[in-house]
Amino acid sequence: MPSSLPAAEPPPHPDLGLRIESSEGRARATVFETPHGLVHTPTFMPVATKASLKGITHGQLAALAPDIMLANTYHLHLRPGEARIERLGGLHGFTGWRGPWITDSGGYQVFSLDALAKVDEGGVTLRSHLDGSPVRLGPIEAMGIQEALGADLIMAFDHCLGLPASREALQAAVARTTRWTAACAAARTREDQALFGIIQGGTDPLLRAESVAGLLPLDLPGYAIGGLAVGEGGAAMRAAVDATTPLLPETKPRYLMGVGQPLDLLDAIAAGVDMFDCVLPTRNGRRGWLWTRDGTVRIAAHQHADDESPLDAECACEVCTTHSRAYLRHLFKTGEHTAVTLGSLHNLTFLFDLVRQARQAILTGRFASFAAGFRTRYEAGEARWQAAHDADPEAARRSREAQGRREARRSETAGDATDA
Ligand SMILES: [Zn+2]
Repeated sequence: MPSSLPAAEPPPHPDLGLRIESSEGRARATVFETPHGLVHTPTFMPVATKASLKGITHGQLAALAPDIMLANTYHLHLRPGEARIERLGGLHGFTGWRGPWITDSGGYQVFSLDALAKVDEGGVTLRSHLDGSPVRLGPIEAMGIQEALGADLIMAFDHCLGLPASREALQAAVARTTRWTAACAAARTREDQALFGIIQGGTDPLLRAESVAGLLPLDLPGYAIGGLAVGEGGAAMRAAVDATTPLLPETKPRYLMGVGQPLDLLDAIAAGVDMFDCVLPTRNGRRGWLWTRDGTVRIAAHQHADDESPLDAECACEVCTTHSRAYLRHLFKTGEHTAVTLGSLHNLTFLFDLVRQARQAILTGRFASFAAGFRTRYEAGEARWQAAHDADPEAARRSREAQGRREARRSETAGDATDA
């Protein structure tokens, strides 16, 4: 754990050199450069919580070809520890993934994993979700850990609140996040890492503006919108994003944290967001909730038992070009390990396709019609599923039971709550 005082003068950031290639309304296609390669936006960053994309091999990852990968500071700090990863070549050498990496600051995990976490001006003390031992994380610790992990982009330590929260609590979290971000900027010592600040403020546009105003004087290389997708609902989230992006500098990447539902991505891209991360593709993939152009397919449902058609006829992934829905259902029903891999692989492919198609559409000036067309078809599929589900009391009973089982499992394994 680093304990040295911040350098008097922090080193310069690498020049990300963001270039806007094309824009349509507020939507934009950009490219920026990290020490390990270019990032083309809009981009989706898959979440390798513990330096591994769950269920996915390196070869499969190479085929997905993400521009940039995300790993979790909190989880890697606990296991295997940042010192070991640093000795083994940082995230790039340790994992063998030589492209760009981004690490989060641990702020989200410490506030969501331990309801009893104690906050003070220097950071947070919480209990490890592994063994209950005390863990200390604050701006100084978050910078030390992330410098050892060695990602190209690193995140400032922030105070993230679950919603709903009182205005007083949100305002205090904004002010604390501003102070902590300044402490992170002062504490960093590496010249090759770009520090992003995280904007807080819940769904209140005035507090979001206050947060932006506090962070802009630090002139950071990038800005993230945090503290959303934490229970506020889609409309409130859209409004918060819409209110925030116009306040951000055009020349810096904008990153919306933890958002990964297909339609939410399109809304945020339309609002001018460049970068996304989310555990949903792999989490839903493991559960057998598989995205298609016609909405989510619950592959374990009885209706797929004899279905010889592909999961998504327009998807070029290994799953959709090789297997039938009937076979996929069989793998999920029998608990085969490959079910997890195939479900995750398809959902990741689907989300990459969506974001890359959105980028192409922006480059060719047809993003609005692309997004509208995608939405219409996707929502129609979801509505058809809902109508069939509502008309079948047996299906409704089964999904209530499955939901009950999931909730019971979740309360047994609280530590997995934020685990990809
Ligand atoms: Zn597929």
